[in-house]
Amino acid sequence: MLIYLNLEPASIYASVHELIRMGYPDAKICREYTSEWAVEITIRLKEQCGQIELEGSIVSEFKKSATSQNCSIESLGNEQGNLRRYLQRFTCRLLSTQLEREFNAYGILTGVRPVKLIHGFLDRGYTQEEIQNKLENEYLMKQDKVRLLLEVAGNNRPYLLDPAAARKMISVYIGIPYCPSRCYYCSFPGAVVKDYEKDINPFLTALFKEMKALGEFIKNNGLLVQSVYIGGGTPTVLSLTDLQRLFDLLHHDYVTTATEEISVEAGRPDTLSLQKLKFLQGTGVSRVCINPQSMNDSTLKRIGRNHDSKGVMQSVEWARVAGIKKLNMDIIVGLPGEGSREVMYTAGKILEICPENITVHTLALKRGSMMAEKEGKADLPNRVQEVEEALQYLSVIFRQQGYIPYYLYRQKYMKASMENVAYARPGSFCLYNIQMMEERQTIIGMGGGAASKFVKAADGSLSTFYNPKNPCSYCNAIERLISGKVDKLKALN
Ligand code: SF4
Repeated sequence: MLIYLNLEPASIYASVHELIRMGYPDAKICREYTSEWAVEITIRLKEQCGQIELEGSIVSEFKKSATSQNCSIESLGNEQGNLRRYLQRFTCRLLSTQLEREFNAYGILTGVRPVKLIHGFLDRGYTQEEIQNKLENEYLMKQDKVRLLLEVAGNNRPYLLDPAAARKMISVYIGIPYCPSRCYYCSFPGAVVKDYEKDINPFLTALFKEMKALGEFIKNNGLLVQSVYIGGGTPTVLSLTDLQRLFDLLHHDYVTTATEEISVEAGRPDTLSLQKLKFLQGTGVSRVCINPQSMNDSTLKRIGRNHDSKGVMQSVEWARVAGIKKLNMDIIVGLPGEGSREVMYTAGKILEICPENITVHTLALKRGSMMAEKEGKADLPNRVQEVEEALQYLSVIFRQQGYIPYYLYRQKYMKASMENVAYARPGSFCLYNIQMMEERQTIIGMGGGAASKFVKAADGSLSTFYNPKNPCSYCNAIERLISGKVDKLKALN
């Protein structure tokens, strides 16, 4: 479906386009006039004589909604972003009228990290009640989502560093962009290891070069590493010999007595063995993720996971025998062929395992995933209510078993414009995930697709730096990546 978006002034596009995309998730938005439009959306904002005037309409073949609204600039108050939020509330209401439903439970919030907003309000001295009012009235959020955000912020706030500690304490991410095969729902452009075996050595050479150079900087500048996350892809696809080389370097240059956590993404059971998990435990890994996504074998087959639920159970048993302290298990709600019954079955099986962490994802089908591009969207459960009910069920059942939500993020293209929520038993939160999500700590990302975040402790300002996801591009750019990150680190002082 084609939407013709007619905005005046054109600069308001940045404020409204994400809301429009959420209202019409499968549509293509066109800003140039085309006679082929199925929906025409017009929004006009005028500022004159101290007044703001808004006019909007949405026209489709069967329905038209139109509205207008005025207010004085003075009445909007001085807070930064007030005019933008006024325009977004107007847009949100216009879309809801036309669609005859609330299309975003987060109101005008469209960003990935809504909990950051709560921390910002808490820093500025707002009470819980004031934040609740603000989010419901100014951001049009639904009450249950407001409560969830407040709960997550309350749970992870004790783990945020104060600016003095953030000057010295960093975290580290290492990206291994290889997987044993490609899951059909995944858009991560990681290489399938059997097709790229010969490229692994050059990749590791570049990674070790990057690790050595940045490790030296960290040591020479008295920085301490609080947490390490080795992700991907699936890092456990590497051989024991390669993992040994990686951990030798890590211990030499990064891990000290200040390091509280080393996490490894061991997502695919088909990359694991008792020997590998014993090695990880022996080298100081305190948390591994073994991710079933679903415990229904027919679903696992349908989404190209190359393992079954027995493989998951076997890997979990090995992790426990090896003595891994924290186990995380990811599940996805909204998978094709799955409704509440299948999700309940998966939840029951996971709870029998008693992992310390459970992360609940809502399916977000991005361009680039085989499912989005080959199977098409028709095969996917387009049952928003069912996804919402399944998420609600999981929230209740996990809380009953002593798990609490401690970090949360949203993604584009998510089913039902929901969120991903990580639950954990108190005291077993993943530090890295909190620091990465709330953006109060510098994170040095190395390897394929790694994101670095540089946080200036003095004012909390943030700048980012991304490594290429493709292993060959990463290898070719390695000198530039090292010097770019060293410059960013130097600029923090
Ligand atoms: S979902 Fe994970 S294991 Fe599957 S292809 Fe994507 S990165 Fe690899």
